[in-house]
Amino acid sequence: MVGTGYVGLVAGVCLAESGNDVVCVDVDERKIKTLAKGEVPIYERGLEEILERNLREGRLKFSTKLEDGAPDADVLFIAVGTPPGPGGEADLSGVFAVAKRAAGLIKEKAVIVIKSTVPVGTTDKIREMIAAQCPHPFDVVMNPEFMKEGAAVDDFMKPDRVVIGTSSERAARVMTELYEPFVRTEKPILRMSIRSAEMTKYAANAMLATKISFINEIANICEKLGADVNDVRRGIGFDSRIGFQFLFPGLGFGGSCFPKDLDALVRRAGEESYEPRILKAVQEVNRAQREWMAGLVAGHFNNKFTDPIAVWGLAFKPQTDDVREAPAIDIVKSLLERGAVVRAYDPVAARNAEAVLGDKVIFCDTAYEALGGAAALVIATEWNEFRRPSFERMKKLMKQPVIFDGRNLFDPATMAENGFTYYSVGRKTARPGL
Ligand code: NAD
Repeated sequence: MVGTGYVGLVAGVCLAESGNDVVCVDVDERKIKTLAKGEVPIYERGLEEILERNLREGRLKFSTKLEDGAPDADVLFIAVGTPPGPGGEADLSGVFAVAKRAAGLIKEKAVIVIKSTVPVGTTDKIREMIAAQCPHPFDVVMNPEFMKEGAAVDDFMKPDRVVIGTSSERAARVMTELYEPFVRTEKPILRMSIRSAEMTKYAANAMLATKISFINEIANICEKLGADVNDVRRGIGFDSRIGFQFLFPGLGFGGSCFPKDLDALVRRAGEESYEPRILKAVQEVNRAQREWMAGLVAGHFNNKFTDPIAVWGLAFKPQTDDVREAPAIDIVKSLLERGAVVRAYDPVAARNAEAVLGDKVIFCDTAYEALGGAAALVIATEWNEFRRPSFERMKKLMKQPVIFDGRNLFDPATMAENGFTYYSVGRKTARPGL
């Protein structure tokens, strides 16, 4: 398993758990040292326990050298990062570098599996690259990953489906054998072409991102027209054709996947002279949502910040320490640029946020500590611990009882009764006594 990020580490550890011998390889020496001690450098529920067990039982090894894993491997997964390049295209240098190195190391009939999310056509290129250097037959598979950060172990262990893109019968059999322990509840293993497998990953993320931007657009219209988006959400969500998932209005999507994968898909379509109109609108609505929140806060204070602003939540979503493309980070940056002092709290993402925001933000150890002397609170991530706070205690700590709830955690009428001015997404602003 090459690459021990969120995907590679979880996949490697889970494959060891089902009885395979796994060598996880990464260029990041510090990460490999940490992992070899049985410590997990990311926050992912349930991962540490399985990692420790498999290390102890000798099925899992960590190394910085491809030579330690590739020559013996029946299956070699490439799960390195494909971050956005300067023009929005996926940066494939890591994937290509691993493929080139692996070409000289793999054994006969090895199966090379591309697990990283790569633009349509990339896996074919990788096959050509390896074929140019590898003296014996090998197979190539595109096997996109659909796990969610925060629930990655569960998702890998119990996937809704597994997608195997390959033209090789033999490789399809090897992959089926590898994944069978994870699909015992009759979930399908879907065999398709390499290009369809590459596209499936982009289409899945584009659909989910579209749902989020859709409900945010509906929320914005609700607010203008005096409707309550939460009622509307429920009104449509019970329709089984629509459903509730990914239909929560908020500050939009972030993370290391949706924004980057949408960018890459828009770009790839453009290269084929296709204008992806829906996808571009999804991006635009998403960008506007975080700008809207920063503007709302600034507008309330007429752009003059005399007291600090508290921010709850820095991760791009709950249950993760990942702050890549997090709406919270952009909102904090925008508040800082407008001259606000920011006191922030996140249960697990503060360290990663600090690496991005530096010492310009006061990082607090508890949610209540962040409220000390604050002119307002912005809720940017819907961590469970924010859902039932003591409003009395909050009011005592804050200079002014003002909340900008970017995740619609509370009922506006209750907030008004508790004496708060309460802004939320797609609902009427509540004011004390109203
Ligand atoms: P990540 O940034 O967390 O980790 C990538 C790892 O690859 C890092 O540890 C890095 O050191 C390592 N790496 C980079 N170049 C390397 C090289 N040449 N040799 C060895 N190691 C190298 O990335 P991630 O979130 O795990 O994502 C990996 C891929 O999976 C991406 O293509 C991503 O789009 C896709 N994906 C991510 C998720 C997710 O939820 N994070 C879900 C599905 C798919």
